[in-house]
Amino acid sequence: MGGSSVLESRLLSRLGSRHGLVMLLALAACFSQPAEAYRTARKRPVSRPLSLDVQPTPEIEVHVADEVAKARRILNDLNADNVLGSPYLVSAVYYHDGFLNNFPVDRTTADPERRIIGQISNQLSSESKARFMRLLHEVWQRSEPVGPERSAMPVTYSASSRGSRSHQYAIDLFAHEGSTVHAVSRGIVVLADRDWDPASLFSTTSRKGGNAVIVFDPDHDRFYRYCHMSTVQVSAGTLVAAGQIVGTVGHSGLNASQPGHGGHLHFETNEYLAGHVRAVDSRRLRAMLKQWKSPGSAQAAREGRKSEPRRLWRSASDSG
Ligand SMILES: [Zn+2]
Repeated sequence: MGGSSVLESRLLSRLGSRHGLVMLLALAACFSQPAEAYRTARKRPVSRPLSLDVQPTPEIEVHVADEVAKARRILNDLNADNVLGSPYLVSAVYYHDGFLNNFPVDRTTADPERRIIGQISNQLSSESKARFMRLLHEVWQRSEPVGPERSAMPVTYSASSRGSRSHQYAIDLFAHEGSTVHAVSRGIVVLADRDWDPASLFSTTSRKGGNAVIVFDPDHDRFYRYCHMSTVQVSAGTLVAAGQIVGTVGHSGLNASQPGHGGHLHFETNEYLAGHVRAVDSRRLRAMLKQWKSPGSAQAAREGRKSEPRRLWRSASDSG
């Protein structure tokens, strides 16, 4: 602090007025910031998750109850026409077993979307999950095939997350914002959140994911989830070919929209097997990406750009 006290006394003698004193106090405030703050600012951005907690309101309670009731109605009469009718129900099926087991679904300050998905999860048996998966296959089989079975790269990326800072069950693929995001397999778009708004609690089914797409891959019983996009170019019920554009890289979502974040595609894969959904860990995800980066994938991406999204099947969610 020696340097700043010399500056202080020089300033004092030069100004010596009340105005000077105000300036001096402002300056002192700047200089007396602990070095800590400087170091924090210069550090590589760390994904320190923001709290998803909210200020409870009666409107939130009504909304949570409505969405859970809607999902329950669909579950009671689950069929090929309403299977994608609630994005929260789709999310509840998608999230790997145990993900929301300990979530405080009744706490009024807890994240409302997770409260909805958690309450629906609690009502999902492995039988109802199995039925859900059978219906997705039924929808797929009754539609015209959309391209051959093959794999494509989700995005052209410069680097991927790894090490202790990265996700256990996901991978961040760093790419320019606006880069096109491609379906890695053919399949059915089961969820397409496109209206992320930081000011709105219910603009998407995941405030962390932002604008996100989940595609069901019927050839492997897998789900692929693409997050933080700026635009989403498919809807729930769209059938996509491998390599087809689903959106563009952006920085939507609570953490991704913070300064220094964004500029990446958050990509994750969950697998369904015998009544259970399991998350693919990041090591295996990395190995899968390596496989997909075959010479054929560039061509696959080009073909994907040419093909227009096809809408062969309307979901019940279209009607509101
Ligand atoms: Zn991520």
